Amino acid sequence: NKQVVLRDYAEGSPKDSDMEVITNNTIIALKVPGGSDAVLVKNLYLSCDPYMGNLMHKFDAPTGFTSYTPGSVITGYGVCKVMDSGHPNFNKGDLVWGTTGWEEYSLITKPEDLFKIDHTDVPLSYYTGILGMPGMTAHYGFYEKCAPKEGEYVFVSAAAGAVGQLVGQFAKLMGCYVVGSAGSQEKVDKLKEKLGFDAAFNYKEEHDLNAALKRCFPEGIDIYFDNVGGKTLDAVLLNMRNNGRIALCGMVSQYTLEQPEGVKNLMNVVTKRVRMEGFVVFDYYPFYSKFVEKVLPHIREGKISYVEDIVEGLESGPSTLAGLFSGRNIGKQVVTVAHD
Ligand code: NDP
Repeated sequence: NKQVVLRDYAEGSPKDSDMEVITNNTIIALKVPGGSDAVLVKNLYLSCDPYMGNLMHKFDAPTGFTSYTPGSVITGYGVCKVMDSGHPNFNKGDLVWGTTGWEEYSLITKPEDLFKIDHTDVPLSYYTGILGMPGMTAHYGFYEKCAPKEGEYVFVSAAAGAVGQLVGQFAKLMGCYVVGSAGSQEKVDKLKEKLGFDAAFNYKEEHDLNAALKRCFPEGIDIYFDNVGGKTLDAVLLNMRNNGRIALCGMVSQYTLEQPEGVKNLMNVVTKRVRMEGFVVFDYYPFYSKFVEKVLPHIREGKISYVEDIVEGLESGPSTLAGLFSGRNIGKQVVTVAHD
């Protein structure tokens, strides 16, 4: 069983050398131990998600999350095939998605947290992205927290990523004007040419984010879907319109800083009557089948497209995961372990 283990806690931005690929020679019986209600799966696609970078650090204070343990297999979302099941809800051959190990085969001891995959006419890797956790994040974060209306001005950061590209497309489906920011020209082109954004800019090339936002939104921003926090959030606050909404989805620019940047322009939330609200996707998991009913037709009808960045092989896992923190990925970052 080939595995990706955490070598030692990461310092600052996660690096591929913080992880290593090992071969665990324990022979796996490919059977669930008798009497257990666990499920044994073969991992097909593994998802690279920013929260995994957080788990590679040793937490100084309680966060509600548990860090990875040096020497142990790292975990994350994946698409898997059931090889054996001691649980009444799962049978051999079922396809599922949920939290699994970064290894070829995993024994899932809490199978009740897995989601069954019922639709296979779309790429299976989509269940790490548009039809998985990032898709639900974009959907509920945008429709519920941003309360969008036709014609509104929407800004999305990390717009070419797993979540951001969907928020922009949902906003276009609502008839909004959408601008995205991303960290390279290639990503900016993708946003405008493939994903239907009205405009996009490379935040790394803008020395004054406030000016960039004023240029893109002369009338101000109604909705900001924040994936990055920090300086971008601060500049957005200056450009919000009255009664605007900000969904705080994540702060990827802050996760690996020793000292998070302070946001200075918060008073704008008061004076402009802005609603700023954080959310965590787990709260929406009970509505997964409803979400699929809404999003699957958009995929089938070609109303939404999804850009994936798929890298082959568990050996590439450490560098691919680390690449998320330097913006190497264009679209949803996935690692393929096996094809079936
Ligand atoms: P992405 O696919 O967007 O990948 C991460 C991207 O973040 C990189 O490609 C890079 O793009 C950008 N990035 C990396 N470092 C920085 C930096 N220092 N400053 C600005 N941008 C940076 O990730 P996801 O779409 O999966 O996640 C987006 C956000 O959503 C994250 O903040 C994540 O934590 C959050 N999230 C929140 C959830 C919730 O329940 N609230 C659930 C899931 C995700 P670029 O080249 O543009 O810099």
